[in-house]
Amino acid sequence: MADRKSAGKRKERKEVAEVTQDKKEESRQNKGAPADGDQPVGNGETEANNANGDTSGVEPIELPPFEIITGDRIDPFAFKFQFKNVEYSSGRNKTFLCYLVDNGTDSLMRGYLEDEHAGPHAEEAFFVQILPDYDPALKYTVTWYVSSSPCLACASKIVDALKGKNNIKLSIFAARLFEWEEPEVQAGLKALHGAGCKLRVMKPLDFSYTWETFVENDDCDLNLWEDCKDNYEYYQEKLADILQ
Ligand SMILES: [Zn+2]
Repeated sequence: MADRKSAGKRKERKEVAEVTQDKKEESRQNKGAPADGDQPVGNGETEANNANGDTSGVEPIELPPFEIITGDRIDPFAFKFQFKNVEYSSGRNKTFLCYLVDNGTDSLMRGYLEDEHAGPHAEEAFFVQILPDYDPALKYTVTWYVSSSPCLACASKIVDALKGKNNIKLSIFAARLFEWEEPEVQAGLKALHGAGCKLRVMKPLDFSYTWETFVENDDCDLNLWEDCKDNYEYYQEKLADILQ
């Protein structure tokens, strides 16, 4: 893949990211109602329709300029920051999504997606960019390792994407739980669970696996941070309570 090219792109975007820090947080909360239109929010129109109760047909996923970075392997520094399973994820207002898609054929798809502070999230981008079409005759085993669990909007988009597709099995391993104290976010996770999506919190071993599989690791091992296991147990307990 065009690694060098995407690395340049990444650097450029980082600068933008500093300026727009917290914007995504805002947009996650106010999707569909951008304040004074000062910050165009991705597909705000679609969100507004959903907010009006128009959730009948799955919204056609036609997306304007996609603020999504795709690639083969993540920058190690970005991984160590974005995937750290701290309790308070200050400054981590984007989602990294590493994926594996096994459809029973010889070709295993793998890579990662990284979203920006405004615009569509990586979870949605997966179904648009990585798995836009699927063959009903095949069985898909899809595994995601995400820096944080899906927000409410993404949870319902994933549920929609999985609807009626019994041949797609999705497992999501999340480093952190995103806004897990919010009742509606909890409802979103329950809906995902109900839709047959396997939801787990990343264990220390999962971090090592993700590092080996999706990071430009230069053949170095990942030194897990001190409280990795404690934090895993913390989030694991919260998720079990939510899904019980
Ligand atoms: Zn989201």
